[in-house]
Amino acid sequence: PPLDDGTPAQAVVDLDAISDNLRALRGHAPSSDVMAVVKADGYGHGMLPAARAALAGGATWLGVATAAEALALRAGLSGADVRVLVWLLTPGAPFADLVRADVDVTVAAPWALDEVAAGARAAGRAARVHLKVDTGLSRGGVAAGDLPEVARRAAALEASGELSVVGVFSHLACADEPGHPSIARQATAFDAALAVTGDAGLRPEVRHLANSAATLTLPELHYDLVRPGIAVYGFAPSPALGVPGDHGLRPAMTFRSRLANVKQVAAGEGVSYGHLYTTSQDTTVGLVPVGYGDGVPRHASGGSAGPGGPVAVGQGPGARVLRVAGRVCMDQLVLDLGPDAAERAGDVVTLFGSSDGVAHGADVPNAQDWADAAGTISYEIVTRLGARVPRVYV
Ligand code: PLP
Repeated sequence: PPLDDGTPAQAVVDLDAISDNLRALRGHAPSSDVMAVVKADGYGHGMLPAARAALAGGATWLGVATAAEALALRAGLSGADVRVLVWLLTPGAPFADLVRADVDVTVAAPWALDEVAAGARAAGRAARVHLKVDTGLSRGGVAAGDLPEVARRAAALEASGELSVVGVFSHLACADEPGHPSIARQATAFDAALAVTGDAGLRPEVRHLANSAATLTLPELHYDLVRPGIAVYGFAPSPALGVPGDHGLRPAMTFRSRLANVKQVAAGEGVSYGHLYTTSQDTTVGLVPVGYGDGVPRHASGGSAGPGGPVAVGQGPGARVLRVAGRVCMDQLVLDLGPDAAERAGDVVTLFGSSDGVAHGADVPNAQDWADAAGTISYEIVTRLGARVPRVYV
């Protein structure tokens, strides 16, 4: 869509890309169900549109972190035939509401069993529970030492009709680093945990361990269900796993703006706060009206300490990629367009997109390039995109 609505910037989300990525992921894990992870507003793409596109591509489960996300998902997808799992709950979480809304809830700590059971009693129906076990991430999940007791208590609550343990799962620490020794250790620990829950009499319908990296590269860890997040949105989980096209994926989001000001600046002038960047010649600078208030990382400022984030200026054959000059500000950043710049105010600039995205013809930067410039990961670049940026769906 044209950027002619007067907004300074927009994130164009290609929903077909999400559906196609989901189909590609099903191809990677043909014997497992696929849960699309849509937490954090669908990694910045919009939770409900991303969820619907994932369902169109064949996802049969959706995964979120928080209770509020799970309830919003159920409300927004009313009637959809999909399982929803929520995994990051704190004491006092609205377990009864979650059970009533037909959300599968995670027990990741001993305290949660009592609260789930109380919620199920209040809702008047059995809770569907997934036990999350810590196999080496040392983050969430029931500790191995607590698992026999938690499994025994879960089995007792299952026998009394308060809950049904339908899943056992864990999460990998280093699946995006091929050959990392923790991968095999966690797989062994997961199988041991499945043996413990089995000994307690639990017969889960789904065992699940794989994030995007494991879905794409570790078929032996797919179990019954895979839980890709970043790959749904079209990214390889880490540069070590190559580029999206290697896996049949393409980025779904294009973040673009327009030049708000184009003007001459003399040689030797400092540019933007702190004067990190100094013009080396009489030049033209272009102002792009997006900044860290929109989620552009300030760490991707450009100057003496290193190149800034990449921006494609223009569209079509004349487009070119420049680096941010000087500090990224709250609402704006500056490009040094050079002495002979032909650009004008109003020209489209693309911070990141897919190479076959909106800025056709240019070597359009992608969110991984911004991650490299800012010292972070593509996940953070797309997820941190601010609420001020309208999402436009195509
Ligand atoms: N499963 C769980 C439990 C998660 O917390 C996450 C995300 O952090 C995912 C799956 C998806 O991970 P990724 O985006 O690396 O595929």
